[in-house]
Amino acid sequence: MTNTSDLIVVGSGILGLATAFLAHEQGRSVRIIDSADRPVGSSIQNFGHACFTGQADVIQDTARHARAGWLRAAQAAGFWAAESGTHIPAMTDVELQVLREFAEHRGDEVTLLTGPDVGAALGNPDLPAVGGAHLPLDMRVDPREAAPSLAAWLDREGVTFSWNTRVTAVGDGVVATTRGDFTAAEVVVCPGFELMGLFPQLAEAYDVRVCTLVMALLERPSHLRQDLAMLTGTSLARYDGFAAMPSAPALRDELARREPALVDCVANLMATGIPEGLLVGDSHAYSLSPEPFIDEDVADLLIDRSTALLGVERPVVRQRWLGRYADSPNTNLVLERPDARTTVAVVTSGIGMTLSFGVGHLALSGEQIPGF
Ligand SMILES: Cc1cc2nc3c(=O)[nH]c(=O)nc-3n(C[C@H](O)[C@H](O)[C@H](O)COP(=O)(O)OP(=O)(O)OC[C@H]3O[C@@H](n4cnc5c(N)ncnc54)[C@H](O)[C@@H]3O)c2cc1C
Repeated sequence: MTNTSDLIVVGSGILGLATAFLAHEQGRSVRIIDSADRPVGSSIQNFGHACFTGQADVIQDTARHARAGWLRAAQAAGFWAAESGTHIPAMTDVELQVLREFAEHRGDEVTLLTGPDVGAALGNPDLPAVGGAHLPLDMRVDPREAAPSLAAWLDREGVTFSWNTRVTAVGDGVVATTRGDFTAAEVVVCPGFELMGLFPQLAEAYDVRVCTLVMALLERPSHLRQDLAMLTGTSLARYDGFAAMPSAPALRDELARREPALVDCVANLMATGIPEGLLVGDSHAYSLSPEPFIDEDVADLLIDRSTALLGVERPVVRQRWLGRYADSPNTNLVLERPDARTTVAVVTSGIGMTLSFGVGHLALSGEQIPGF
């Protein structure tokens, strides 16, 4: 009977761990099953940027659940989480116009800044910004710390982990694995970009594919804060909240003229600080079976543009990697119930870390977010 629990979570990425955390808070017995021996998927490859404010209006309730969950988990497990917000320099009048419209739309969630103020906040007083914004509700975590710390804390709290155990099928409360069957009253499946391996029909129905992103870890010069989070004009064109503003089409036209190389590699130029250094990226390419190669021109472009904004004269690269996350051209979230006891949850855009505790709440409560 030890193979039976109230809830089985498949996947020890941040979405699976967040779901397990919420179920543990409810007093349920939980088992987490993962084919790896620790969290090594998308959840440790990202910026650690909890970008609640820039997401679509329709997901803001879920974002509030997510933010509260992040704060409770950080408090319980003792990992670093900074409520330091995001800074966005506006380098052109069109970028500033999008920020003004967004501030008008969201009120207190957005503070407009002068050019000198946003430069100072980013540690680069010489930045020739025409203005900017601070999004005070956004948060920072260290992706290399948060998921492993949360897993270790859940383990200490009595959540059972089955590592090195590949799940081969899930249905009606039975989870078949390479180490035999496990049963539970309810199963939540969070396999990230490996959805195709477990639920191929679902993956095909949503055209789920793998997005690969060129990333780098630089040495962080002392003038840049560990809790730094910088979004840029490309982010304003990309995240649904900003992209819904009336001036967003004009911004996309301007970016195509001003920064064609960034547009070509589908960049979301951004940077965050972590204890290990400065994370910069990223580009986006889509494939069912991506090749592992990093394009050096793209990597250099992203480093060049981000460090120019941050006043880093001689960037020192410590690591490069090709990150991966699940993507769909049709939806930001696959949240399906193939049978009464199984929920499949995959965030299919680059905001799964941000929304993890909110999506975990949806998976456990049975709520849906139509139109997201
Ligand atoms: C470069 C990059 C930057 C990003 N930046 C951000 C950001 O700043 N903010 C943000 O919100 N999001 C960001 N994202 C997206 C975010 O990282 C992901 O959306 C999120 O981590 C997905 O979490 P997950 O738990 O669903 O997936 P994962 O972390 O990939 O975890 C899935 C787990 O499931 C396990 N698994 C899969 N199949 C099986 C199976 N059959 N049996 C057993 N185990 C299985 C895997 O081993 C893995 O451990 C970024 C992603 C990348 C790659």
